[in-house]
Amino acid sequence: MLSAEIIAVGSELLTPEKTDSNSLWLTEKLNEAGVEVMLKTIVGDDEARLEETIRDAVKRSDIVITTGGLGPTEDDVTRQVSGRAVGRELVYHDELEADLRERFRRWGREMPEINKRQAYVIEGAEILPNPNGSAVGMKLEIDGKLFVVLPGPPRELKPMYENFVASRVREMAGEVYAKRRILRVSGMGESAVDEVIAPIYKAFENVQTSILFSKSEIEVHLAAKASSEKEVLGILDKLAGKIADALGMAVFATNGETLEEVVGAMLIAEGKTLAVAESCTGGLIGMRLTDVAGSSQYFLEGAVTYSNEAKMRTLGVPEQTLIDHGAVSAETAEAMAEGIRRRAGTDYGISVTGIAGPDGGTVEKPVGTVLIGYADAGKTRSVKFTFPGDRYLIRWRSSQAALDYLRRQMIKAKNAEPSAAAG
Ligand code: ATP
Ligand code: MG
Repeated sequence: MLSAEIIAVGSELLTPEKTDSNSLWLTEKLNEAGVEVMLKTIVGDDEARLEETIRDAVKRSDIVITTGGLGPTEDDVTRQVSGRAVGRELVYHDELEADLRERFRRWGREMPEINKRQAYVIEGAEILPNPNGSAVGMKLEIDGKLFVVLPGPPRELKPMYENFVASRVREMAGEVYAKRRILRVSGMGESAVDEVIAPIYKAFENVQTSILFSKSEIEVHLAAKASSEKEVLGILDKLAGKIADALGMAVFATNGETLEEVVGAMLIAEGKTLAVAESCTGGLIGMRLTDVAGSSQYFLEGAVTYSNEAKMRTLGVPEQTLIDHGAVSAETAEAMAEGIRRRAGTDYGISVTGIAGPDGGTVEKPVGTVLIGYADAGKTRSVKFTFPGDRYLIRWRSSQAALDYLRRQMIKAKNAEPSAAAG
């Protein structure tokens, strides 16, 4: 398999403020073409270090792509350094300067003289046009290796790669198509998931399966390669289907979807609406739900009722319930879910009340104690969790548990529906 290496250039990428997202995008594209990225480097605007990095890269990797540092200013050094690193001169192109002058004219400005630098190209390199910016890219092949120099701004880099680099990478890689697939699982631990699915994925020798723990769920990552796109998608569909069957309701996504997307799609499919009453999550569930475009179709109302007073006034939780059982209790969670459902006039109401810490825990109700309430037209339910983790994780896990509880209740209700055949 071909190896690739990505070099991101720019001192700003070495600060805490800026992330090198270009290499993530390029890695996805290269992987899809069946090329493995073996090394990524971030180099500041430093000529010596960049030259050394490029020199080494073209020695050891089949495909080398640099991003950034093609601008006209003094600190944009990729152009001249990459020429030096591969032992070639820079050649001046009249037509590029004319093109730059024309570009500036269209913007109603005079071209600053320093922009002339952008008319220099490595000798023998193919010029990659940049409709979205002033810096052209460069592509050249040296001793069977592909060396590509791309601009830093993602909106310039992406079309340039798609239009002028992707097809050459595919040619070099041969007929290899690689795809990834992510399944997401709730309410099960890593080892429990592995116990169930290991016998299944071990039979798929051509798929690389990994089980990862994220902050509130288990992810099953599948990566496969085949000689056609259809074949690789077929393999992944088959394995994803088997895993989903084996894990049942615990699998909430078979194609990387988030829980809020899945719940939203279910609500749309059933034509149902939702309202949420939150205490310790402080609006997190509402935020996650409304992160999904089109959520106004089903999410009607959210209330953040932090104090007992707010729970009574806004949701109609009886004072006696709070006195008898406390704010963090099944009774309060259920009254909250019923209250928000009634007030918003929705099909479903869900609620969260808990102790996110670090203070406020007791022996009976330690930090991490969280109750999720659920109400629909026919019934009210609640479930209690004791989540490990810090305040951030407890809040996140609570939001996940609430959305998942709703999802499970909806599936149960659907499964209980008398089918047409039985009726
Ligand atoms: P320009 O001609 O616009 O100056 P350039 O090739 O010189 O292009 P840079 O100056 O290095 O590119 O970067 C311009 C902007 O592009 C940066 O401010 C940054 O926002 C973005 N950028 C650069 N490199 C990356 C990267 N690796 N990942 C994500 N964004 C990047
Ligand atoms: Mg620049």
